[in-house]
Amino acid sequence: QATNALLMARRQAAIPRGVGHSHQIFIARGENAEIWDVEGRRFIDFAGGIAVLNTGHRHPAVIEAVKNQLDRYTHTCFQVLAYEPYVELAERLNAKAPGNFAKKTLFLTTGAEAVENAIKIARSHTGRPGVIAFGGGYHGRTLMTLGLTGKVVPYKVGFGPFPAEVFHARFPSKLHGVGVDEAIASIEHIFKNDIEASRVAAIIIEPVQGEGGFNVAPPELMQRLRALCDQHGILLIADEVQTGAGRTGTWFAVEHSGVAPDLITMAKSMAGGFPISAVVGRAEVMDAPAPGGLGGTYAGSPLACAAALAVLDAFEKENLLERSRIVGEHLAKGLTRIAAKHRCVAEVRGLGAMVAMELCKNGDPTRPDADLTKALTVEAAKRGLVLLSCGTYGNVIRILVPLTASDALLDEGLAIIAASMNAVAG
Ligand code: PMP
Repeated sequence: QATNALLMARRQAAIPRGVGHSHQIFIARGENAEIWDVEGRRFIDFAGGIAVLNTGHRHPAVIEAVKNQLDRYTHTCFQVLAYEPYVELAERLNAKAPGNFAKKTLFLTTGAEAVENAIKIARSHTGRPGVIAFGGGYHGRTLMTLGLTGKVVPYKVGFGPFPAEVFHARFPSKLHGVGVDEAIASIEHIFKNDIEASRVAAIIIEPVQGEGGFNVAPPELMQRLRALCDQHGILLIADEVQTGAGRTGTWFAVEHSGVAPDLITMAKSMAGGFPISAVVGRAEVMDAPAPGGLGGTYAGSPLACAAALAVLDAFEKENLLERSRIVGEHLAKGLTRIAAKHRCVAEVRGLGAMVAMELCKNGDPTRPDADLTKALTVEAAKRGLVLLSCGTYGNVIRILVPLTASDALLDEGLAIIAASMNAVAG
């Protein structure tokens, strides 16, 4: 009989410790926003595989599409033998991306790979080396994306040196007293201190920082970044790996700001649990690399393309963008009610169904409380809820529940957070 403890022991013996674990739970089965572990215990899933399951575990239409695809062909390598689902998915994403200009889309497998390729494309198009990213940002675990990532522990420690010509600007945070003016000024400082604007290929930004703590970029920041980029011939890249695929109430989170980036990266929820990522962008920029310069053996796997097409259909049929806004309001209200009872909640924030609360000692934003945050996720798991933390100081509770979860399930999850807070925060 497999138990979580026995499997954890095997995991520890067989898998490097660098692969962290949020919970000591082994899954046996998942269904929409619920999972059952190997001991038969049920959990509500507020983590969604880290923003991958906007359409839930095993959405029936996604599973059916993948089964149909499995029965026809599973792999050719798109560069060797092409297949229509790749082309159709590109066409549909091109039509969805903001901006009144021609677009093209490239598929890869992981979010980090999408970001890597966006940088390659931006450098190829501009002939410039520099990239500006943001402190607290997260872009992946490969060397270029680690260079872009703005958090040292645990991601970057011991893995350098990182690629050169990467610089970090400040990301705004109302709670921590950083405004849009300071963020823009920090880029002007980079132009003064580190690299001239004419050698910068791209500015890359998450419209809402995911791993960094669900910090929302104000629309004004996006608009001023667009203007700054246009002024200096720099490309604007929105990393929508976590915010995209409908999480924030629009298909792409940048739509909230009315800004059209030159390139958008996406992954995670776009295929409901199957590995695929994308770079969507301005056609002439996307066409800069010469034939053979882009691709990958598994990039744009037929199985994942079929899944992604089914996800797009499900969003339309089930009105999931609207649902994302409703889920977001519901969760924000629930967390705000909890915050009213506990001084330690410094802020409840988010965009659409990307909702979080920041925990600080006595509610003082200068005293982040990572221990309390950890205790809360552990307590919630004991009570049957899978919760995730994030944030530069590990003191933010974030919710990435499937948008297909029922109101009753959302309420059950919120009640567990409330009870867990009472238990650990007093
Ligand atoms: N960019 C962002 C904004 C992300 O949130 C992530 C993953 N958390 C990545 C890139 C990297 O994606 P992956 O883990 O699929 O490589």
